Order: sequence, then structure tokens, then C-alpha cells
Amino acid sequence: MTCSRTIVIVIAFLGSSALQAHEVTAPISIESFPLDEVSPHIRVVHGPLAQPSPENRGFMNNPAAILTANGIIVVDPGSSRNTGRQLVEKVRRIWNKPVVAIFNTHVHGDHWLGNDGVRELYPNVPIYAHERMIERANAGEGEFWINVFKTMTKGTAGETKAVAPTIGLKGGEEIRIDDVTLKIHYAGHAHSDNDLMIEVLNDRSLFTGDIVLNHHVPNSDVPQDASFKGSITAIEAMLKGPYSLYVPGHGRTGGREVPEAMLRFHRKLYDLVMKFYRDGQQDYEMKDRIVNEMSEYRDWHNFSEMGRVIGYVYREIEKDDF
Ligand SMILES: [Zn+2]
Ligand SMILES: [Zn+2]
Repeated sequence: MTCSRTIVIVIAFLGSSALQAHEVTAPISIESFPLDEVSPHIRVVHGPLAQPSPENRGFMNNPAAILTANGIIVVDPGSSRNTGRQLVEKVRRIWNKPVVAIFNTHVHGDHWLGNDGVRELYPNVPIYAHERMIERANAGEGEFWINVFKTMTKGTAGETKAVAPTIGLKGGEEIRIDDVTLKIHYAGHAHSDNDLMIEVLNDRSLFTGDIVLNHHVPNSDVPQDASFKGSITAIEAMLKGPYSLYVPGHGRTGGREVPEAMLRFHRKLYDLVMKFYRDGQQDYEMKDRIVNEMSEYRDWHNFSEMGRVIGYVYREIEKDDF
């Protein structure tokens, strides 16, 4: 009797927590997502495709770790101190080694504000990024992003301070850490003016930053920072590399099909805007037709932002025309 009552209570408890885990409005964090093994050395937490909100506490990117013989290299530890700390705790559950380096792919806050949480645990760990990112971070861009996340999450992202990278890179460097060799690539102004791509030579893999997203309209969050033509050039360049695995800034990791899909999207969008521009149309006149022509991508995240993205492609083409 006592025994069966205990079982009923346990089942009721499990039932209610399972319901909570699937409750759409329940607050989520990096803790709710698995640490995916995508290659021998690389682990990725594939974050949700979403805008920062009180429910997701601003967690929306793909924080990752590269495991070396004696340590952990963190890539893009998310948008808050909490996310950065939780990423390290999560990785250390499977790889109980110290964090030996952090890499940031670019200056947008969803990728690097988590430096604060990693540095809380490892105060002296070096942080690598493009030198232009360091310039922008030191000019106060961190505070701008902290405010964006604070406002959009209504404070659920928690307290964070901007911890800027410490070691500037230009692209072309080869960095060996223990048994892992990283090659740094820079393909010019693309998603932003400071995108680094990180190749893990051992695994023939590439962290693309936000130059490549999976199932996500490109440059839709911060189109004012992007060169759309430069994004096409950068993706073409990475497709010539020896990689069999691409870790995008948002969305699932995959093979060549991930950057190839992004390249098709970019080329189609750019060509359409160019065609209507040459016909003498203004951006507001071409928007509806282009959105319609691009409807094969309507299930991509942020498709509702296409109008704004078209406006920015238009302005770039107009500027290049002068
Ligand atoms: Zn970005
Ligand atoms: Zn991003």
C-alpha cells in the first residue's frame, strides 16, 4: 500500500516536470539543450532559432567547445554571463579539463557576451577575435548589446558585463593548442566587418560564424552591418575549402549542403533586387514581388523580416552603382 502510493507520487511528479519541460512559455536556457558531438573534437549546443525573449533569456546561438588533449577551447559562449558559465559547466561534465582559450566569431552580442561567464571561472583565459571586433567592443558595443538583451528578455538574461577579446587576429593565422590546430580565415566584409571563420584542421571542420546560418534568413537580425555581396564571396570561398563539416552561427551543423543552401538564397535574392533595380523600381515597389519569388524559403526563420533585408540589399546595390 505504502509502496504503490510512493510510485503514484513519483509518476505524478515526473509527469508534471515532463509537462513543464515541453511548456512553450517555460523559461529555457542552454541547460535545456543537448551538447551534440558533431565531430571527434567538436561539441555544439544548437540553440533555438528565435529572437531574444523573456522565455529564452536571450539564448539563441550555437555555443561550442573544441576538446584538446589537456583543455577546452570555447567558441561563441552565448549572449549572457549565465550562458557562458552554463556552457562551461555542461562541457566539463563530459571533459573535465580547464578552458584554455575562447574564440569569438564576430561582434554581435548573441555570440560573445558569454565571455563574462567563462572569465568568471577562468579569469586569465585569452580571448581571440578579429582585431576590428576588439576595436568595436572597446568602443562600447558590448554595452549596446547588453541593453538590447536586457530589454528584449525583460531582464531574464541576468546581469552581464562586456568582456572584450584580448588577442586580435586578421585571418591567415595558424594556432596550435595541444593536439588541435586551428586555422583562422577572414574573407572580408560579409555578415559584419569582423567575421572570423575557424577551421579545425584535425576534423576538416569550419565554424562559419553568422556568414552561414541553417534554415534562417541571412543577415536578417542586423542587416545594417552586412555586405550582401561580400557574404556571397565569403561563402564561395569557404566552399572551396577542404571541409566536410560546417558549424553555422545559428541552426543545425551539417555538410556542404548548409553553405550551399545559404549561397543559393543569397544569389537569388541579390539577382532579383538587381533585376528590379535595373528596371528602375524602388525597394518598396519590388518587395512584394521578391518575397513572393522567394516563397520556397518561407519556412526559414525570420522570413517575416524579408522586406527589411530587401531594403538593405537595395541600398547596397544603389551605393555600389555610384
Ligand atoms: Zn551576427
Ligand atoms: Zn548571431
